[in-house]
Amino acid sequence: MNSQQWIEKADKVMMKNVGRYPLVPVRGAGCRVWDADGKEYLDFLAGIAVNSLGHCHPRVVKALQEQAATLMHCSNYYHNAPQIELAELLCRYSFADRIFFCNSGAEANEAAIKLARKYSRDKHGPERYEIITAVESFHGRTMATVSATGQEKVQRFFDPLLHGFTHVCFNDIEALKAAITPNTCAIMLEPIQGEGGINIPSPDYLKEVRELCDQHGLLLVLDEVQTGIGRTGKLFAYEHFGVSPDIMTLAKALGGGGPIGAMLAREDIAAAFTPGTHGSTFGGNPLMTATAVAVIRTILEEGILNHTEEIGEYLLGELEALGSKYPFVKEVRGIGLIIGMNLAMPAGDIVKKGHERGVLLNVTHDTVLRFVPPLIVSKQEVDEMIGILEGIFAEI
Ligand SMILES: *Cc1c(COP(=O)(O)O)cnc(C)c1O
Repeated sequence: MNSQQWIEKADKVMMKNVGRYPLVPVRGAGCRVWDADGKEYLDFLAGIAVNSLGHCHPRVVKALQEQAATLMHCSNYYHNAPQIELAELLCRYSFADRIFFCNSGAEANEAAIKLARKYSRDKHGPERYEIITAVESFHGRTMATVSATGQEKVQRFFDPLLHGFTHVCFNDIEALKAAITPNTCAIMLEPIQGEGGINIPSPDYLKEVRELCDQHGLLLVLDEVQTGIGRTGKLFAYEHFGVSPDIMTLAKALGGGGPIGAMLAREDIAAAFTPGTHGSTFGGNPLMTATAVAVIRTILEEGILNHTEEIGEYLLGELEALGSKYPFVKEVRGIGLIIGMNLAMPAGDIVKKGHERGVLLNVTHDTVLRFVPPLIVSKQEVDEMIGILEGIFAEI
């Protein structure tokens, strides 16, 4: 079947909750995908920062296939070996002492919200449940995470929202200070805002947030669903800012394309999740945790973090050089391979032209071109994408 035939079928049976492009990828390898008509695309979106090792990385495919043929699922009533191995890896390379596994970013954030509330209730009583989050943040699409998200376009139509969230401007420490009340239990932030337009805080912001949390006995929850697992050139973005969170969430890149989320916490906080307080049927099942173990080992053993840092600097430099030639490019900003190019106009048409010319680009926050390619992207592939983008810019 060709792309058009698939799209006509989709039109009849798929819900229209997502505005989909008329593009049907059917196969991928490395930084490239092919659609149902056999057309090739260079992938600079990587499934929204998910396919960090590219498509069908041999180590990831092998781990998934072997585990699928061994034990896919068995229930969290029992211990499972790949889950324990993955938890050990995450604890060894992060601030955390204990891990809870789930299936997505929103679920990881739900778990973080519940843990923050439970810990604070145990310690300070039932009044202390409010969580401060940032304007333009994105934490997911479930009711609690929609309530946590600081974007009207995500929240509208779904009133009443969950009670107990306040939103303050990102990167504004005074606004945070002013928002703290006796009922505040946690501050929840993305270290770099992803969906909100690749917003990078000033170097001291997160340190000041950490100090504020310590002064007031608040939990610092970092949502690293988009920034975690190497995206910034370090395993976790918080490492760039000289802080440790109390709770952290992961998802997107953790499974190398497979659905998995994780919520990580320090020992004393994790202790608030006593038996029966939270759970997930699929969370941490052997299939996905074995895959995630392969993802993390590959990143650590194959120098992917150094490569991400280097190639990220190269891509940033190339985008800045390109941007300096076109007055409609307002700013290029990024760390590692999470880079935004803010334009003076909506970027939707550029994405469509990219598809025509064989590159998967992405726009977030309406005017920001977001570049989150696989971490294994090569200099040649960057040059190829820049060449295509330059061709598009020249026509505007
Ligand atoms: C994508 C994302 C989420 C939501 O993850 P899902 O897997 O779609 O539920 C949450 N937080 C951040 C920062 C994200 O980028």
